[in-house]
Amino acid sequence: MIWNETIECMERDEMRKLQTIRLKRIIEYTYHNTPFYRRKMQEVGLTPDDIVSLDDIVRLPFTVKQDLRDNYPFGLMAVPMSEIVRLHASSGTTGKPIVVGYTRKDLGVWSEVVARSLYAAGVTRNDSVQVSYGYGLFTGGLGLHCGVETIGGTVIPMSSGNTQKQIQLMHDFGAAALACTPSYALYLGETIRESGIPRSEFKLKTGMFGAEPWTENMRREIEESLGIKAYDIYGLTEIIGPGVGSECACQHGTHLWEDHFYPEILDPQTLQPVAPGVTGELVFTTLTKEGMPMIRYRTRDLTALHYDKCPCGRTAVRMERILGRSDDMLIIRGVNVFPSQVESVLLEMPEFEPHYLIVVDRVNNTDTFQVQVEVRPEYYSDEINKILSLRKKITARMQSVTGIQPDIKIVEPRSLERSQGKAKHVIDNRKLV
Ligand code: ADP
Ligand code: ZN
Repeated sequence: MIWNETIECMERDEMRKLQTIRLKRIIEYTYHNTPFYRRKMQEVGLTPDDIVSLDDIVRLPFTVKQDLRDNYPFGLMAVPMSEIVRLHASSGTTGKPIVVGYTRKDLGVWSEVVARSLYAAGVTRNDSVQVSYGYGLFTGGLGLHCGVETIGGTVIPMSSGNTQKQIQLMHDFGAAALACTPSYALYLGETIRESGIPRSEFKLKTGMFGAEPWTENMRREIEESLGIKAYDIYGLTEIIGPGVGSECACQHGTHLWEDHFYPEILDPQTLQPVAPGVTGELVFTTLTKEGMPMIRYRTRDLTALHYDKCPCGRTAVRMERILGRSDDMLIIRGVNVFPSQVESVLLEMPEFEPHYLIVVDRVNNTDTFQVQVEVRPEYYSDEINKILSLRKKITARMQSVTGIQPDIKIVEPRSLERSQGKAKHVIDNRKLV
């Protein structure tokens, strides 16, 4: 199912032509409308006339999150505030929130890309979609909301939280699709199981999950627990919100809607482009945004891009799963550890729940690495030997995946906090000293 076939299946050289025209236009536009971008270009001696091909993009300076903070709240708007019809702000997973503004046209583009994303996941105008991302300044709720309306589906604007009611209305309204964070999807699955309502009474067939990194194992767990197909949807506030890209039925990579968001992958150290398929930092340039365009915005997300055609028929570039943000990466005793590695171990071991908390500290100048995990009720035991052997097993597996020995703390079933939005998986006490 393809929403906008002309664009989504456009031959690569045609797409590059379109991107070139749009890149030139947005550089000209920001040079004249955003003093911040003009100053940055002048600093490196560039004028819009210097950007003639797509490859010239590498000559342009980067934009980073700190630039948005320095220009808080409205310093990067390219239009008068009277043209801005909506504001959103990032949830502030890492530091102070940042603010973005949309013109009416920007909202149209956003709805269009979310509609493409929903359609790619098999949602049609005949379906009702339960939006269980938070509504408000966070882009998740309203972003999905407008996309559902655009394809003519029925939106159930639940927002996050109130989990019992989520289950009840999902059941009573016969929601066909669910949109929320993957960690909340797991929690909803768990709650349905406990509710005793037979799964056959739910109409749910598909789900779109994003806003935080998740793994293939987590996908399987969600699909099994909710009896659905689970698709990735990716986005970030700075670029537009959810719907920068999304998965198709093939489930092997997230198609990026590159007619609006031009992606580059750079080596995080040298900031030079890497070859297709090589992992690096994802950088976006918005090609059509009016309110607050972003030129070469460094997302800090680590991933790789593939340009071969997808069996679904789309030519839109495919992005691998986000490994994590470079600033999510923990350096423990000199070893790079991603929370997603811990999650993948938990999900391959049937004895454990997929919920976890990593606590890092420094004791006597040495980093400590504790991982709190929950044993599934059916494997939980009062016998100390059983628990010790489980602990030994997971310690060995975690060490082989992360390269560092964790101190595993097994906690009682249901004692780790369940997430209703973006899960918080790490407490790093070293930063406090
Ligand atoms: P904040 O920056 O405050 O967390 P955002 O909602 O803008 O607020 O978060 C965007 C970030 O969330 C992305 O840069 C990425 O790190 C993460 N993210 C969003 N969608 C996905 C996804 N599908 N897979 C992995 N990470 C994702
Ligand atoms: Zn595809």
